[in-house]
Amino acid sequence: MIVDFHSHHFPAAIAVRAMAGMCRKTEGTLWPAGDGMLATQLDALDLAGVDMAVACPIATKPQLFDGILQAAVALRDGAFGERARRKIVPFASIHPFDPDAARHLEQVASAGIKGVKFHSYYQDFSLADPAVRPVFEKIASLGLVAICHCGGDVCWRGVRGLCGPGEVAELLRRVPGLKLVAAHLGGCWDYPPHATDVLLDTGCFIDTSMLHSCWHKDEPVRILRSWPRERVLFGTDFPWSHYPEAMRWVRSVRDPADWPDVFGGNACRLLGLA
Ligand SMILES: [Zn+2]
Repeated sequence: MIVDFHSHHFPAAIAVRAMAGMCRKTEGTLWPAGDGMLATQLDALDLAGVDMAVACPIATKPQLFDGILQAAVALRDGAFGERARRKIVPFASIHPFDPDAARHLEQVASAGIKGVKFHSYYQDFSLADPAVRPVFEKIASLGLVAICHCGGDVCWRGVRGLCGPGEVAELLRRVPGLKLVAAHLGGCWDYPPHATDVLLDTGCFIDTSMLHSCWHKDEPVRILRSWPRERVLFGTDFPWSHYPEAMRWVRSVRDPADWPDVFGGNACRLLGLA
């Protein structure tokens, strides 16, 4: 079983426009492997032999919560086709400053959606800000999974201090029961070597997305090699990386004995999938 814990697609009506905007922001450093459409991702999953992918939408403002949750439930229930129902695990997203966050998170949990996605740059908050802590405490109490972009972002050059390893560690010190996936190997990009070591004792998960393709340095290899295998989740950030390339990188770094956990076992346990 292979599960991509970190992927994106967009509503069909805005997918190409959204992708074009982000491509411009990367200033040519990244070229996507897809056009942002769900159908393209489903084909890419099938071609690469990836069984399932977690879809990570981002509520860039509080008002987007309802539409995102409705789309997640619709996808889960088959409104986007049988293949999407089988292969995509849709997450919800909540804006950390949503005045109705507690009620909205209860809606997510009671709808049977497994987790929520955050992105500090698009949502303009720090993971270490005490003001957002109640949102994460609520997530922990409901047993939901949180996944957050961590580290620098090629679309947000020069912005730092919102979701680096230090902020992740601070959040987990304050909300110790939180099931948190610190994306992009815990946020090493744009931070000094060994910055993510602060996360080793926190219990957080890391995903493997993107670092192989946008930052050809020793540090991503060191992190991926040294992390406990039960807390590493294969992820791609598709459409921002190609499935075969992302899989090849993880396989080249981790021992084959670790592959079943890293590529799917850990994800299935975390998400309660059979
Ligand atoms: Zn992403």
